[in-house]
Amino acid sequence: MKVRYDCSKCPGYCCSYDRISVTERDIARLARHFELPVDVARERFTYRYVADGVDERILRHHKDQVFKSVCRFFDRDERRCTVYEARPTVCRQYPYLPKCGYYDFLKFEREQQGDDEFIPSA
Ligand code: SF4
Ligand code: SF4
Repeated sequence: MKVRYDCSKCPGYCCSYDRISVTERDIARLARHFELPVDVARERFTYRYVADGVDERILRHHKDQVFKSVCRFFDRDERRCTVYEARPTVCRQYPYLPKCGYYDFLKFEREQQGDDEFIPSA
């Protein structure tokens, strides 16, 4: 199915989500990628999030000049994932459909502004 979004034209909105949940399998894949013990990778790349009945491991973030913060694996200058081959399952699946809501919003706002680089606040 042909996708109707282009991540190379997007500042990486989905990588700015606060809670990017990972599984033990995702952590093991990242550990292999960085040739680290799984325990070290778990601690270095993720932290435990517990609230409102939710208990999960989520990716750590770092500050960003476009969004408040982004996934620690996101290159803030190049605006791309630095672990693409080893990225977690949720990152492989998103946006789950052939279209991306944020991309549609971005495209619409850029057309309105007549500016291909415009980044609206999400
Ligand atoms: S928000 Fe959509 S277009 Fe932007 S990087 Fe994520 S999937 Fe790609
Ligand atoms: S692992 Fe890559 S694709 Fe997933 S949130 Fe982080 S930077 Fe984005």
